[in-house]
Amino acid sequence: MKALTNINARSIADAVAAASAAAARGQAFAFSGGGTDLLQQIKDGTNQADVLINLRTVREARTVAVSPTETLIGGLLTLSELASHTALSGPGWAVLREAAASAGTPQIRNLATLAGNVTQRPWCWYYRSGFPCFKAGGSECFSVNGEHQQHAIFGGGPSYSVHPSDLAPALVALDATFEVTGPGGTRRIAAGEFFVLPSQNPARENVLAATELLSGVRIPTPAAGVVSTYLKITDREAWTHAEVSVAAVLSMEGAHIRTASLVLGGVAPIPWRLTDVAQLLCGRALSAAVAAEAGTMAIAQAQPLPKNGHKVPMTSAAVERTLLRLAPSA
Ligand SMILES: Cc1cc2nc3c(=O)[nH]c(=O)nc-3n(C[C@H](O)[C@H](O)[C@H](O)COP(=O)(O)OP(=O)(O)OC[C@H]3O[C@@H](n4cnc5c(N)ncnc54)[C@H](O)[C@@H]3O)c2cc1C
Repeated sequence: MKALTNINARSIADAVAAASAAAARGQAFAFSGGGTDLLQQIKDGTNQADVLINLRTVREARTVAVSPTETLIGGLLTLSELASHTALSGPGWAVLREAAASAGTPQIRNLATLAGNVTQRPWCWYYRSGFPCFKAGGSECFSVNGEHQQHAIFGGGPSYSVHPSDLAPALVALDATFEVTGPGGTRRIAAGEFFVLPSQNPARENVLAATELLSGVRIPTPAAGVVSTYLKITDREAWTHAEVSVAAVLSMEGAHIRTASLVLGGVAPIPWRLTDVAQLLCGRALSAAVAAEAGTMAIAQAQPLPKNGHKVPMTSAAVERTLLRLAPSA
């Protein structure tokens, strides 16, 4: 591996200043959370950074602050901390805890940060193997006519890699707002506007500018009656990204669903919100028949590639199973 310059940032502002200074010097740089993806990117040659701005030395953005209406979660909390945080113990937070606990391995979760997980780059085998694809600044998606068993069935084109983060669908389902800090200060971006489809920009997965970092997320504090869960299907038992995942947040009144928020992972280049399914569920009693109906509706717009059709019934079954998990009698 090439020689790298490491800068230990002392604060979020310090990290942003270091990024701006590196940019002004014409140096390629990257923020490093846990480094679990970034160092792989550098080894793969998909990231040309010469300067690493280390966020592990930053003391702030590592807490959870709960108020009755809103919860602020620091972007530098690790996945392990998120999965077991006492402030996130209620049923409304289960989706976030379960998503965090499902990612990678214990070693990865002990290092990986919320922000790094959400902004990790795609793990498409062509991109990571040095092919000059859209993600690498090229003009082709090699998966379309190649191997795409794990690629998108929704929202694909011109690139078909899927968004790899387990936390991202959970945060979107919880209606998070992302706090992004850059040289001009901190701006807030609704989760639904943070992620970018390849039809908008095939090289990027989010709207972050190079000198901006994700410093935290704000989430409406789940009210009484809110239940949630994260279901993840993988092609092996551990250590891997979702084939299909479902993040579900339901506000219940007895057996009836008052509001629903359902977001898929592993099937699209961004966390894929199931708006129609959520509308279908509102006001209905959560029964096996309703869960099956939701599963059928979830795949109505699916557009599989020739070799990833298995994801379509898998998605339908995953949505159905997720809802059944949340049924009052379950
Ligand atoms: C074997 C293996 C299995 C895995 N399985 C899963 C899985 O099941 N589910 C899953 O979700 N992930 C999985 N991953 C990916 C892993 O979760 C990510 O590598 C990790 O979450 C990234 O977090 P990090 O803090 O280490 O990010 P880093 O590696 O430090 O950074 C990742 C990217 O985000 C950028 N970045 C970091 N912090 C910030 C910030 N604050 N603001 C803006 N940009 C930032 C970096 O520059 C880099 O481009 C797996 C990885 C491996 C190696």
